[in-house]
Amino acid sequence: MLDARLARRLELAPGLPSLPAAAMRVVELGHQPEVSTTELAQAISKDPALSVRFLKVANSPFYARRREITNIRQALVTMGMNAAVTLALSFTLIPALHQSSAAGGYGYQRFWRRSLLAAAAAREIGRRHRSLLDEDLMLAGLLQDVGILALDVALGDEYQTLAGKAETHDHLVAAERAWLDADHADVGAWLMARWRLPEYLAQAIRDSHRVKPGDRVAPEDPQQRLQAAVALSGIIADVWMDGDPARSAAYAAEQVGAALGWSPEQVQELLDAVGEAEPELAGMFEIALDHPAATAGVLDQAREALILHNLRMVSEVAQANEQVRASEQQVRELEERTRRDPLTGLFNREHFFNRLEEEFRVAAAGHWPLTLVLLDLDHFKQVNDDYGHLAGDRVLRQASAVLRDALRGEDLIARYGGEEFVLLLPGVHWQDAQGAVRRVLEQLRCADMEVKEAPALRVTASAGLAVQEGTQPFRDTEALVAAADEALYVAKKQGRNRLVVDPITLEHA
Ligand code: GH3
Ligand code: MG
Ligand code: MG
Repeated sequence: MLDARLARRLELAPGLPSLPAAAMRVVELGHQPEVSTTELAQAISKDPALSVRFLKVANSPFYARRREITNIRQALVTMGMNAAVTLALSFTLIPALHQSSAAGGYGYQRFWRRSLLAAAAAREIGRRHRSLLDEDLMLAGLLQDVGILALDVALGDEYQTLAGKAETHDHLVAAERAWLDADHADVGAWLMARWRLPEYLAQAIRDSHRVKPGDRVAPEDPQQRLQAAVALSGIIADVWMDGDPARSAAYAAEQVGAALGWSPEQVQELLDAVGEAEPELAGMFEIALDHPAATAGVLDQAREALILHNLRMVSEVAQANEQVRASEQQVRELEERTRRDPLTGLFNREHFFNRLEEEFRVAAAGHWPLTLVLLDLDHFKQVNDDYGHLAGDRVLRQASAVLRDALRGEDLIARYGGEEFVLLLPGVHWQDAQGAVRRVLEQLRCADMEVKEAPALRVTASAGLAVQEGTQPFRDTEALVAAADEALYVAKKQGRNRLVVDPITLEHA
């Protein structure tokens, strides 16, 4: 909202831009929901200058029709009503503003140049961003800085001094805010309301200095789309206006990228289209420019900057991906570590139970056998007692290596606790599993276990085996483990250094 004192000062300013009579009629008609093309055509036809311009544009490449359009009605029908109202408004308003400003103090060439470029940019953004509001966008782009004209006439010399010092549009905005607690976008919106132009236009102009980087525009929200296109159009125009095309182009690419997700190449295309459209729009609104398009140099500089920008983005993306990969790798390593027993490097008990549940389920579903073996080193307490706990640790590590080497990759080996291990052999018939376990026990028996400062020693192990197979006698994993445990107990009782197969398994085999 404008400060009441500033609003009053604007209202009383004798040269405040006003809406020409023809534009006023068009706006009035635009407010009527059921206005007919006939009525609108009549209103436009009453103003011969407006009619001529209207037909000229209806036949311009912008609206490229196959057949020549010779009357206003026809033009309205082919363009659509909304486009026609907006255009009629632009055609009356802009030349009137242009005329009234020609005598003023602010750099008007600059003003109109930026307005035209912004209008072209807004239109091109709309075309590329599935917007249905081409003409609204163009008008909003054109009018976004109209507050400058109002401030210029209302505040005179003071404003002109301030505006003269501002090198860029952003500087101007900052100086206005510091002085008036409002900027020309606020004043522009105030003017729109005064002229009874649609609220969404006023809103888009009010927000025209507020592109929040990173705020992605929701494509399904027309007001957001309009607002973003208008705000971005000013930033695009500044590629030509701010004296440093390379820097401004890089900034524009960032902002357009953040708001619309466009690549630097797409922004470059947009810049090219805007440069091309500027003289066309200048003709459309009969605005004479002192320096028609010294654009080529600007676009070359912008292009170079955007190529660099693109390269930087590509390498930033690559870096970001690398970081993601590295942290994913870390997570994987961490996960892997939580599954492992630190002493032996075998899977730990917790991971074993997780896998057991899963293997039990898929074995049942797939009707294949699942063998579970509990294996316990014999008289291991004695090893610790004779050689010390550290030597015992070494033996545990070596025994683990023997297990790993003796079994296949698909088999799961885990440290169940202390000197006890568990083996899970999916898809192996019980007789084969029995053979495998006997082989493991044999290899353990024969392995030279190195211990420090003593000759190598030998250990034996006992094992209990249970298989879920055939008629599937085990209710759940607990029952399967309990059966293997029971068999191991029997093996120990029978004198150790042997394998015992659980009786239920034998019965169902
Ligand atoms: P059995 O043949 O009946 O299994 O006799 P055992 O001595 O192997 O059985 P017991 O359960 O009585 O003792 C197991 C021993 O294993 C006792 C414990 O000190 C040792 N132990 C368990 N975990 C570790 C370990 O991580 N490192 C070492 N060095 N020893 C361990
Ligand atoms: Mg034990
Ligand atoms: Mg033991």
